[in-house]
Amino acid sequence: MQGFVLHTQRVKDEDLIVFILSKKAIFKTYRFYGLRHSSILTGYKIDFALEENSRFLPRLKDVLHIGFYWLFQREKMLIWQDFIRLLYKHLNGVESIDNFYFELLNECVKKFDKQNPKRIIIDAYVRILEHEGRLHKKFTCFVCDEKITQNIVLVRAFLPAHYECIQSYGFNKDKLKEFYESKNSSVFDDDEINELYALIKEGL
Ligand SMILES: [Zn+2]
Repeated sequence: MQGFVLHTQRVKDEDLIVFILSKKAIFKTYRFYGLRHSSILTGYKIDFALEENSRFLPRLKDVLHIGFYWLFQREKMLIWQDFIRLLYKHLNGVESIDNFYFELLNECVKKFDKQNPKRIIIDAYVRILEHEGRLHKKFTCFVCDEKITQNIVLVRAFLPAHYECIQSYGFNKDKLKEFYESKNSSVFDDDEINELYALIKEGL
């Protein structure tokens, strides 16, 4: 089976509880001497097997790290791990899952090789919002419930608001509309990308 390491938690001296996102489930597993294994790090893609244990968590075994070309590019790896941490928090408590998330992460790691990592995360996030039915395409202000016709302020989870209601960075409405349709952040300049990325870092 393949999956992404979402989170690790140290237990006892050297053991680890490892959360893995696979195609259909988020597994909570136990790895003896996990700290000795460099292949079990947040964000890594691994091939693995589980040994069921009726009295405790399934045992994680036969772990093989599936490397990325960009693995040793520090800045990319940090952005990737930040995103995985956010995703772990977002999916906390979920056990069975549809394959959307696994496939999305797979696509992201392929793109990370050549494209700007923040843009990849932003594109991925808007797909998550749409998949979960949380993408607000109608641009109604969440504060006053009125339509927004000018620039659109976004807050956490890309909730839209009037500038008059929430004084923050205003996005061009047409650009935002185009982005929500295309799921491609190339319409935005670097400043806009930094603003969107900062919102994602507040939580998915
Ligand atoms: Zn308003």
